[in-house]
Amino acid sequence: MNETPLDILIRGATALTADPALPMIEDADIGIRGDRLAYVGKASGAIAAHRVIDARGHLAIPGFVNVHTHAVLSLARGMTEDMGFAPAYTPGVPHAYDITEDEAVALGRLTALEAMLFGSTIINDMYTHAHATLPAIAELGIRDDRLVLVGKSSAAEGIEARRVIDANGHLATPGFVNVHTHAVLSLARGMTEDMGFAPAYTPGVPHAYDITEDEAVALGRLTALEAMLFGSTIINDMYIHAHATLPAIAELGLRISSSAWIHDVDFTQIHNKVWEYDPRIGEDRLRYASDLYDRFNGAFDGRASVMLAPHAIDTCSRDFLRDVNSERRRLGVRVMTHLAQSYMEVEQVKQRDGMTPTELLDDIGLLDEGLIAAHCAVMTEGDIARAGRGGITVAHAPKVNLTGGYLPVTSKLRRAGANIALATDNMHGDMVETMRWALAAGRLQEKTVNDFWGAPDVFHMATLGAAKSLGREHDLGSLTAGKKADVVLLDFRRAHLTPAFNPVGTLVHTGQGRDVATVIVNGRVVVEGGRATLVDEDKIRSDGASAARSLWTRVTGHPPAGPARWQAAV
Ligand SMILES: [Zn+2]
Repeated sequence: MNETPLDILIRGATALTADPALPMIEDADIGIRGDRLAYVGKASGAIAAHRVIDARGHLAIPGFVNVHTHAVLSLARGMTEDMGFAPAYTPGVPHAYDITEDEAVALGRLTALEAMLFGSTIINDMYTHAHATLPAIAELGIRDDRLVLVGKSSAAEGIEARRVIDANGHLATPGFVNVHTHAVLSLARGMTEDMGFAPAYTPGVPHAYDITEDEAVALGRLTALEAMLFGSTIINDMYIHAHATLPAIAELGLRISSSAWIHDVDFTQIHNKVWEYDPRIGEDRLRYASDLYDRFNGAFDGRASVMLAPHAIDTCSRDFLRDVNSERRRLGVRVMTHLAQSYMEVEQVKQRDGMTPTELLDDIGLLDEGLIAAHCAVMTEGDIARAGRGGITVAHAPKVNLTGGYLPVTSKLRRAGANIALATDNMHGDMVETMRWALAAGRLQEKTVNDFWGAPDVFHMATLGAAKSLGREHDLGSLTAGKKADVVLLDFRRAHLTPAFNPVGTLVHTGQGRDVATVIVNGRVVVEGGRATLVDEDKIRSDGASAARSLWTRVTGHPPAGPARWQAAV
């Protein structure tokens, strides 16, 4: 380090080195001299460098090595994913020998730019190939909280507006409707995905009753911010301290459908696999949920709504679920629950009641259009038929299922008559990414590429199908004149979104939540230029981070940490 000055010194990043000898370095120094890494570690004292990059708050990784590309095939972006096979074997599309040299150069550079912007430092390419345009965007008119005009630009000529948003080069979609979240569970981000099951059933992590009201607010706002920045205009959330998180989330400007975490099991024992039911707990939780409804349903200019959320069929006894059924009829609300989410739940309910969780709900009278059931991963053919007949909505959180090792039965449920709506559950709040996971999950079930489960279908599940599950299809879920003005604009002037001949395919297959530039909720611009307009994003982020740290430290005796095999080498 004491030789000639470095050319570039990167300071302060957390480095994931991919070097088995030292996989992770916090607060790392990375020195570059000429074309080589000259130093990777934690330097003590001053280091001379011609240029210093302050990388605090950044993650440093080696450049991705992309070992198989056909850069010119960006020509079929948003379509090739639904052809069922490689373009070379598909009739009716341009093939390698149709492409001129100039076309190949232009398309190849486009893909290479995309790859480089996304962190690939080398691509291993084979091919030759063409070029692109973006479809014209329609004109949208908003008055107060409603869409009053949706049509071609020519229809808008001569129309006066207080504000004109130039959306040239953008894709406009309805706001995404995320039907199942636990906003507070951002506390376990980057770890919960590898626990094998929901945190509630996992020992050694903070649980619902460990969390203070302030921590719940900070963590809930963090997830709601993420969801809103990525184009969700409503989240349907269930967790503890809902009386505090609901108004705190509403402040961000999005819609919040909320429900309490209700059950009659003693939740403090669930992660030890002990199910003990107590009617007093059930009464208390149900009263809390009804109060929440009285206080907040319809609040915040109608942006807030409340439903009932019995946690799961194994954590709610048969008697308690009966009480929930009476209460939902009294209030006229929908019911959200986790259904058939694991083998463990199905076993527990079978032992307790002698039937599957789905049969139990049917028996009680809850298996109908007013039910939103998350997961539905472990179901018999009989369960699927019942759920379909009942017309329930499946809150399909494919990332949770697939990363947990479950292939759900959503395509069978849809064929049987169930409504499918997408959700992020306790994972990354990106509904664009979720559409992609849902597409893959459906195709794995269907074992083919077909017209039953394609890009338009998963887009429907994230918008109008999801609005239907909330009983809000008359108001939300599509860009239709007369509906609520919930609009998302995605900036399509980007390498990975070009060309966009088939915008729904391009959105589903290569779009990302971070492509969202503008979000309008209830006629108000709540995200502009990719930033929240009504709240201090940086404060929400730092409050969320400190809440997670203090919570973990208090509950487990140490700050949150990833798997031991990574920590050991730090
Ligand atoms: Zn869940």
